[in-house]
Amino acid sequence: MTEENKTSSNFIKNIVDADNESGKFDNRVHTRFPPEPNGYLHVGHAKSICLNFGLADEYGGKTNLRFDDTNPTKEETEYVEAIKADIKWLGFEWDNLFFASDYFDQLHAWAIRLIKEGKAYVDELSADEMREYRGTLTQPGKNSPYRDRPVAESLDLFERMTNGEFPDGAMVLRAKIDMASPNFNFRDPVMYRILHAHHHRTGDKWCVYPMYDWAHGQSDSLEGVTHSICTLEFENNRPLYDWFIENLDIYAPQQIEFARLNLSYMMTSKRKLKQLVDTGVVNGWDDPRMPTLSGMRRRGFTPRSIRNFCDTIGVARANSVVEYAMLEHALRDDLNQIAPRAFAVLDPVKVVITNYPEGKVEEIEVDTYPQDKENSETHVVPFSREIYIERADFMEVPVPKYRRLIPGREVRLMRAYLVTATDVVKDEDGNITEVHCTYDPETFGGNAVDGRKVKGTLHWVSAQHAVPVEVRSYEHLFTAENPSDAPEGGSGELDWTANVRDNSLTVTTAYVEPDLANAKAGDVYQFQRNGYYVADPDSEPGKPVFNRTIGLRDTWAKK
Ligand code: ATP
Ligand code: MG
Repeated sequence: MTEENKTSSNFIKNIVDADNESGKFDNRVHTRFPPEPNGYLHVGHAKSICLNFGLADEYGGKTNLRFDDTNPTKEETEYVEAIKADIKWLGFEWDNLFFASDYFDQLHAWAIRLIKEGKAYVDELSADEMREYRGTLTQPGKNSPYRDRPVAESLDLFERMTNGEFPDGAMVLRAKIDMASPNFNFRDPVMYRILHAHHHRTGDKWCVYPMYDWAHGQSDSLEGVTHSICTLEFENNRPLYDWFIENLDIYAPQQIEFARLNLSYMMTSKRKLKQLVDTGVVNGWDDPRMPTLSGMRRRGFTPRSIRNFCDTIGVARANSVVEYAMLEHALRDDLNQIAPRAFAVLDPVKVVITNYPEGKVEEIEVDTYPQDKENSETHVVPFSREIYIERADFMEVPVPKYRRLIPGREVRLMRAYLVTATDVVKDEDGNITEVHCTYDPETFGGNAVDGRKVKGTLHWVSAQHAVPVEVRSYEHLFTAENPSDAPEGGSGELDWTANVRDNSLTVTTAYVEPDLANAKAGDVYQFQRNGYYVADPDSEPGKPVFNRTIGLRDTWAKK
């Protein structure tokens, strides 16, 4: 890499560059992505993944995937497997796979060392008392009466805690730091709690489990991580991160905080997403309305669109909310390049071409990738006397500036013929059931030999050949731009569930060109003039189900 290319585009790269300059980490770059396996990854995690893996890729370094599995009551193997699959799908490979639980023995031994050195003690205050003793932002805390108990007593109690002699919550191990510190994290943070719970990997071996702050930095250290990147909420935990490492006198990684990704209309909290799943608001973690990576995949998002989006938004040190339209822009951009074009009519009205021979079928050859001049692939769409067009493409009494089909006007049926509407058939309620047209046989391909121009071009499907398919269309799951910004619920807490939209899923039947009958789960198409659609895993051979991924209109590019 040339010096110029190396000019840093984000502040974390500046730090890495400076470290490489000073030789702080011997020019190593070793990052980690540390998810807690208590749910599926969401779009916020994608940002962290792109950042950590991207940084290592750029500097020829390494990235560990480390499951932060220190809270056995919430963690499950299902989540571990889902998280691995999502990272691979996004396009990244970890160099090493670790679990914080790999270090339970080492962490326990280190805790004993801190007790022996008078830097940790067993505290028997109740949770309420501990809260009271901790003080407030304006008032220092008070020392626990157990704080100065003899080392031997703490050692004994810690051993007995570990052996399962006490019930949950009876006592904790705390670091002995400073109850008067302005930084709350220094007011004798808890290192271990008693939890008689089955762990997804260590089984019933342990009934004391390390707290996040005690596990995280030491895990980073053991793995030789250089830059431990986390979100801003952990800024005040950094001094504690450093304190443990200093007092254990072990290798010291550098914690760096960046602003978490907030996206309008998207909920990025595993806990809350789990609630949506558990209460049946959505049909699982991979519901196409979910901001999870598995939901986005099912919705038709491509890995590249998500990676490009993360690149575009960059890495900041201040929290902000990114507009959902920006993510959509990245998605359209990618789908526009890769999606084959197809004819599909979403809301049909029948058109009868009265002067077209009955029983005749023509094969219309259309470009599959008209957006890509290099790709000359074509496919064939059958044309016949009766076709469907979109109901919105015909108006008996047109509104001003309406360019599509109206009585007496000639328009183009895409790649087929020019047709002119002559009359309509209505049912007894006055709804149009058929539009009658005539066609000009001299306009095959959609252009007149005499060069006359028409304004409207419509997509269509042959009524007898079209395949009816289920289409699922979605709106934002939440009505509020910031879904967490909610009225107070009964318990006095903010009730974000009040922002859940009632009818975010609409199921309709569309008529698609025959080639789409065998679409397989994950196949994406642009339905001409309408939007991007992806075949859902619920598809069966000959019976595809399509999810509407996104419409064609880009509200972001306009800005
Ligand atoms: P959640 O509240 O959804 O569980 P979390 O931060 O607790 O989020 P973890 O599994 O602990 O989830 O996170 C793994 C990594 O992903 C962490 O390094 C965390 O900082 C990062 N991360 C999580 N959410 C976001 C986000 N919205 N933007 C950027 N990074 C995030
Ligand atoms: Mg978490």
